[in-house]
Amino acid sequence: MRPSPGFVSSSRTDAIAHQVRQARSAVYWSENTPAPGSRPSLIGDHTADLVIIGGGFTGLWAALQAIEEHPGRTIHVIEAETAGHGASSRNGGFCEASLTHGLLNGLSHWPDENAILDRMGQDNLEALLSDLDRHRIDAAVEVTGTMSVATKPWQVDDLAEYAGIVREHGHHINLLNATETRRELNSPTYLAGAVEPGGAAMVDPAKLVVGLAQTVLDLGVVISERSRVTTVDDAGTVLTVRTSGGSVAAPRVLVATNAWAEPEPKIRRYVIPIYDHVLMTQPLSAAQMAAIGWQARCGVSDWANQFHYYRLTEDDRILWGGFDANYYRGNGMGPQYEQRIDSHITIAGHFFDTFPQLEGLGFSHRWAGPIGTTSKFTAAFGHAHRRRLVWVAGYTGLGVGASRWGARVGLDLVDGKSTERTELKMVRRKPLRFPPEPIRNPLIQFTRRQIARADANHGAPGPWLRLLEAFGVGFDS
Ligand SMILES: Cc1cc2nc3c(=O)[nH]c(=O)nc-3n(C[C@H](O)[C@H](O)[C@H](O)COP(=O)(O)OP(=O)(O)OC[C@H]3O[C@@H](n4cnc5c(N)ncnc54)[C@H](O)[C@@H]3O)c2cc1C
Repeated sequence: MRPSPGFVSSSRTDAIAHQVRQARSAVYWSENTPAPGSRPSLIGDHTADLVIIGGGFTGLWAALQAIEEHPGRTIHVIEAETAGHGASSRNGGFCEASLTHGLLNGLSHWPDENAILDRMGQDNLEALLSDLDRHRIDAAVEVTGTMSVATKPWQVDDLAEYAGIVREHGHHINLLNATETRRELNSPTYLAGAVEPGGAAMVDPAKLVVGLAQTVLDLGVVISERSRVTTVDDAGTVLTVRTSGGSVAAPRVLVATNAWAEPEPKIRRYVIPIYDHVLMTQPLSAAQMAAIGWQARCGVSDWANQFHYYRLTEDDRILWGGFDANYYRGNGMGPQYEQRIDSHITIAGHFFDTFPQLEGLGFSHRWAGPIGTTSKFTAAFGHAHRRRLVWVAGYTGLGVGASRWGARVGLDLVDGKSTERTELKMVRRKPLRFPPEPIRNPLIQFTRRQIARADANHGAPGPWLRLLEAFGVGFDS
């Protein structure tokens, strides 16, 4: 007798839930490449030419570029936990040229600046890769490009339209039919694909963080870890950055705390924390790799509004993330939000829907991380204390590459320089503010439901999403 569909589906869900529960609640990248040792906390009173608050990609790229520009400068990075503790070692490792969370988002907000932003993004990616070579930072870089896939009929036309726009803007893109897409990567869910061979590399984010931190230390930058900055006091010509154990006085301060939006309270108006969930599989066997193909090893994402992103690691595991972007009331952040098992089980189900030939493959790790997002999905820039303090935050889900550029802009601003970068509208004008709590949470949860509804309705946005779009506001991961 054939089992009833209900029986099949619940036993499959149970099996998947069981597999997810077997995974370690830990970040694969940082377990695989731990930092060589912890650095001292900030104790006592110090001075510096520049203080950088936050030791993720933005803080570390800022330290590197600042010390290379002025080798004599004294620079102090102050990190609340350990370098890379935030999004920077928890991400998918898609290191893309785009500074604008993709071409379409850039065109919708800054159509007249798009060519400049596009060029700056390409230059930034090239410079980032050349910095890694020059400083011998092994971030397990694979220059693979990316592939977008359509898994629903409405996405096929959308992808074709996108390919036309990409070509109009001078970039190479190959539009594939279902058979051609499945030849690149074999999933029965694929209806079409678009391969963009340039403009993206896959990196190991923890190796990148560890390498950057070691490089700046070797160049004379001081890093204090386990030192949460609580306040910045303004004493006229210097700002005093305080932690519970000590302080650093400096004429310039760059805040690179992204989703945390600390210690400058104004950042929270523009940047909110969204938790994005990730699974890492066990390494695939040769037979499993043969069953899916993926010879080009490109990073993949699907074309839904609530999208998944996935890629291979050096040892042929699959990192699978996205879809569920969770906001918690009151800008909730902390380890309690990192192990939301329901989200992990949901995306594990999607994994096996995508690759049924891998049924039974186990997951080794599961984790989540805080994405700092703005209503334009791109970095925002701000200042306080007569521009002696500058902040940069909010790359949404595309900050691995863009954070190097964001750091560069932040340094220009804090040094009072007027450059092509600082004159951009994207830099000068802030995104719309998110409403404060208690309105923020219900509005975001309502918007999330509308996004899910749009996906279920052939991608068509309802009145609420259309209204937000008209105001240039969005919610994404
Ligand atoms: C799950 C996930 C997947 C992602 N995938 C991708 C991807 O594939 N490609 C991509 O381009 N982007 C991706 N992103 C986004 C990308 O990781 C981030 O945009 C980028 O890492 C931001 O770097 P950052 O240094 O600005 O912030 P963070 O790395 O978050 O660093 C901020 C640091 O500030 C510290 N801090 C906070 N408060 C204080 C304080 N008061 N005092 C001192 N220090 C403080 C934190 O501990 C943290 O280390 C992803 C993000 C997540 C969470």
